[in-house]
Amino acid sequence: MTGLLKDSYGRAIRDLRVSLTDRCNFRCFYCLPHGEPPIAPKSQMLSYEEIEYVAEIFVSLGIEKIRLTGGEPLMRRDIETVIRKLSALKPRLHDLALTTNGYFLPGRAHGLKDAGLDRITISLDSLDRNVFKKMTGVDVLERVLEGIEAAKRAGLMPIKVNAVIVRGHNEEEVADFAAFAREQDIRMRFIEFMPLDSGHEWSREMVVSGREIRERISERFPLIPLNAGRGSETSSRYRFADGAPGEIGIIAPVTEPFCGACSRIRLTADGQIRTCLFSTVEHSLRDLVRSGATRQEVINYIESVVLKKEPRHYINDPGFMQPARTMSFIGG
Ligand code: SAM
Repeated sequence: MTGLLKDSYGRAIRDLRVSLTDRCNFRCFYCLPHGEPPIAPKSQMLSYEEIEYVAEIFVSLGIEKIRLTGGEPLMRRDIETVIRKLSALKPRLHDLALTTNGYFLPGRAHGLKDAGLDRITISLDSLDRNVFKKMTGVDVLERVLEGIEAAKRAGLMPIKVNAVIVRGHNEEEVADFAAFAREQDIRMRFIEFMPLDSGHEWSREMVVSGREIRERISERFPLIPLNAGRGSETSSRYRFADGAPGEIGIIAPVTEPFCGACSRIRLTADGQIRTCLFSTVEHSLRDLVRSGATRQEVINYIESVVLKKEPRHYINDPGFMQPARTMSFIGG
């Protein structure tokens, strides 16, 4: 154990999000509405051996949680190998999780569990077929619901379901999602729409605030807070007052920023470290590793990059600039 990664504001960095690919089979309007720009050649992407190499170093520096994401991480053919390699870092690595759109889970969920995946988060923006299609660009609601079932059968618990709530699209469904969480005994997470869409259509009017989400749910299902002092957790969590199964989490980075407790850094599929979702600069770990740097040089580099982590995001400041790369490239 080399030590603990700390940024210059004293925040301990324990959580690494690794994007496995920029590619995605969905076209969510709030992320990648017009499809991917030309995909970079495979040679620019980190191989599973490189991911394994740098992940081990990150874990030796105190990273406890790794979440695999993308793009759609299940579009990467060697994902089971990546999971197997990262799983070997336990118990120093406490938690290995995956965020997926769920499309490939029927038929794949058991293999992911067998490879060593602990938990899964599935994105689901609507329970209505037409709204789902309008938001994601694909007509596959039933298949994603099957994916949730497959993840349950595989024991990838606790299952979290993410819904981005966008005004004019799915805000009327918030309480229905809460009912879904109760019926299915899942952890439902509601996320505010962030300015990370490649279409640059984000506007403040489209953001449904965490507060409104809470009120919409509470009208039908009274809630009790679970994590008043929530540490570095992104969501404020609630249980149902009547004791029903399931849980609610609200992630409100726009209206209730939680940067002060941020413990995250990100690694893009092409090996760039990003110290914030909204960073406008990236740091090429890939180039350093490929230049033949020693392990100690890689450690020094990671530590120096972490010291550059931004104090907070600037979404609410007048001069805010949306990052050039969207969520599908940064790794949500
Ligand atoms: N393809 C996987 C999926 O669909 O979950 C993983 C990558 S996706 C970029 C990760 C998460 O980011 C999803 O839950 C997605 O809804 C969320 N996301 C993407 N763009 C967003 C935005 N502009 N604002 C808020 N959340 C966003």
